[in-house]
Amino acid sequence: MGIDTVLVYSSEDSETLPVQLADEAVCIGPAQAQLSYLSQDAILQTALSYECEAIHPGYGFLSENADFAAGCEDAGIRFIGPSSDRIKLLGDKNLARELMKKNGVPVVPGSDGLVNDTDEACSVAESIGYPVLIKAAAGGGGRGMRIAESAADIRSAFESARAEAVSAFGNGDMYIEKYITSPRHIEVQLLGDRHGNLIHLGERDCSLQRRRQKMVEEAPAGNISESVREGLYEAAVKAGKAAGYDSAGTAEFVLDRDGNFYFIEMNTRIQVEHPVTEMVSGVDIVKEQIKAAAGVPLSYKQSDIHISGHAIECRINAEDPAKGFMPSPGKIDFIHFQCGAGVRIESALFNGGRVSPYYDSMMGKIIVHATGRLEAIRRMRMALAEFTVEGVKTNSDFLYLLMFDPEYLKGNFTTDFIDANLSKLLGWERDAKAIDEEDNG
Ligand code: ADP
Repeated sequence: MGIDTVLVYSSEDSETLPVQLADEAVCIGPAQAQLSYLSQDAILQTALSYECEAIHPGYGFLSENADFAAGCEDAGIRFIGPSSDRIKLLGDKNLARELMKKNGVPVVPGSDGLVNDTDEACSVAESIGYPVLIKAAAGGGGRGMRIAESAADIRSAFESARAEAVSAFGNGDMYIEKYITSPRHIEVQLLGDRHGNLIHLGERDCSLQRRRQKMVEEAPAGNISESVREGLYEAAVKAGKAAGYDSAGTAEFVLDRDGNFYFIEMNTRIQVEHPVTEMVSGVDIVKEQIKAAAGVPLSYKQSDIHISGHAIECRINAEDPAKGFMPSPGKIDFIHFQCGAGVRIESALFNGGRVSPYYDSMMGKIIVHATGRLEAIRRMRMALAEFTVEGVKTNSDFLYLLMFDPEYLKGNFTTDFIDANLSKLLGWERDAKAIDEEDNG
């Protein structure tokens, strides 16, 4: 886009590819994120001294922090994302839920606002019926959330969810939702600008999760009726309009077996899985996000958006599936990603690079695009089969075998699919490794 950039990094990341490639790079602190990537002062001071006009927060860290967005606004720097008051409103999941309820967007049946103590939790749960999900208003990344199956565990679930929320987010505000059994997670990509335009770029199915963390995402979602799909689009745009949304963002929904869908939250940043939408819509979402922050009107109208083909993303993590997916950081002795038609790789790793123990274990993403879902799955199998890494353990064989699961092939999967099939999938991996060793030996 012809924009000069300054990259900030922690001392832990001084040898990384982004640091080597950036126009200018500035070390803002030590490995501990609190003292670098989460240090609002260090980032703002650097931006001011380099006369930066805007800050792109990426995902994670300060990307959904309303105080940081407000700090940028006060310093006269554009935060590439929505305005701080929108982040504040939507970042409080309870307030967002109330706003959606008021504006006719379906939300999961649950408490009317916050639930203050265990007695109230008991009576709310009785009235909506078990199982229920206790959630932190400030929650994220699956933390501050507990299921209560019956009256026997509501008190302990409430207390432990609240304790986790206080320690993770410094905020113990809690609310309760009906726990939808075996739902699908479907989300709709939104794109807005500062001129009141708001469109959607279709949906993603992010139901393949392990412990409520996404592992594989695809676009469009298979196995849903056109009327449900249209209903989701309408609800997502209504949600965005209700919030006065003016950037790239995502409206997340759970979909039950009967085709009922419910808004769960809005993410006010670019998401890890945005490439699948880019592949099927042809829209560069990050570019539009930057333009929107600069006050440029959207380049697209809703009628310009056409979804073409099918895209799948697999998150490659440095972790060991055989050891409970324990993180496996370390030096990369050798790495090779298969590239080619319809394969997009997003990774900053290289031979001799390192996966740091300090940050997220995601080391890259493989995204494939093809004319249909089955073709995309075939392409993903090839890309995963040819992916090679030495030095750290990864989940790539696990993902490869997942791409052969008959239920996955049929599109029959819900958010509990991986956890419910874990021993089968891990068994496949063990057997495949044993055969490999026999062949080699
Ligand atoms: P976080 O912000 O921590 O990621 P979310 O509210 O987005 O939390 O929920 C994370 C995941 O938990 C969702 O993808 C979905 O799988 C599951 N989930 C959330 N709410 C419900 C619910 N009411 N019933 C069943 N599953 C839910």
